[in-house]
Amino acid sequence: MSVIGSHTPTAGGIARTALPYLDAAGSEVAQVYVSNSRGWALPPGDPAQDDLFLSGCAERGTTTYVHASLLVNIGSPTAETVERSTATLAHALRRGTAIGARAVVFHAGSAVDPAHYDAALKQVREALLPLLDQDGPELLVEPSAGGGRSLASRVEHLAEYFDAVDWHPRLGVCFDTCHAWAAGHDLATPGGMTATLDLLTETVGVGRLRLVHANDSKDTCGSLRDRHETIGQGSIGTAAFAELLRHPSTAGLPVVVETPSGKTHEGHAADIATLRDLRD
Ligand SMILES: [Zn+2]
Repeated sequence: MSVIGSHTPTAGGIARTALPYLDAAGSEVAQVYVSNSRGWALPPGDPAQDDLFLSGCAERGTTTYVHASLLVNIGSPTAETVERSTATLAHALRRGTAIGARAVVFHAGSAVDPAHYDAALKQVREALLPLLDQDGPELLVEPSAGGGRSLASRVEHLAEYFDAVDWHPRLGVCFDTCHAWAAGHDLATPGGMTATLDLLTETVGVGRLRLVHANDSKDTCGSLRDRHETIGQGSIGTAAFAELLRHPSTAGLPVVVETPSGKTHEGHAADIATLRDLRD
């Protein structure tokens, strides 16, 4: 059975803010940022809050995932961006260790210029191999919505990404339904979600899918646009999420919603409840 939770705010202190949020939203798994999602600053964290968060998660039996800053792009043609991205991933892994995270999720990135594609995959290798060889949280690559010569958007592109790091065992995949839909996988057609997850397993093998982002979409299939919608109220639709939760590749996996939450937890609580109904 999948474990269902949500992206979880941490502003004001990770234990102080995230733990009550998990309880209110009914989250069985947490995903947090450890730095500003749209900035490069790398805050040190507060050891007292980290310890309280660790013990709070242990009491609840919840697992935590870190989402790296959305600015991370290790395929960038700009050297400074690659440097900052690599430092941001290293920071996310350090902070992830402090809060007991199982893995750090990051976006696959893009070469921006098609002529930079081969060099971008070399950058992926140089940046990721040393991080993958460390102890601590694993790394999970999340295929993007596409555009800008993405390094991985459609699931079959993941083969080249994994080739770049010699199929390192500590690299996994985070599958985001809204991104896959934007990249042109027709998840809404009956059997479409199943076919996409079959293709994912065929491409990267059993056991590489380690996290799911369950998001409906405000846009059409293949739009390359990444605008998340409440589960069942978007263009992907509820039936696709039922298929997702029945697919053998998601058995026992954490499923995290990153849907619009409003000012408090209510949006996430509703989405978690919807997915739990489909699961149980
Ligand atoms: Zn996502």
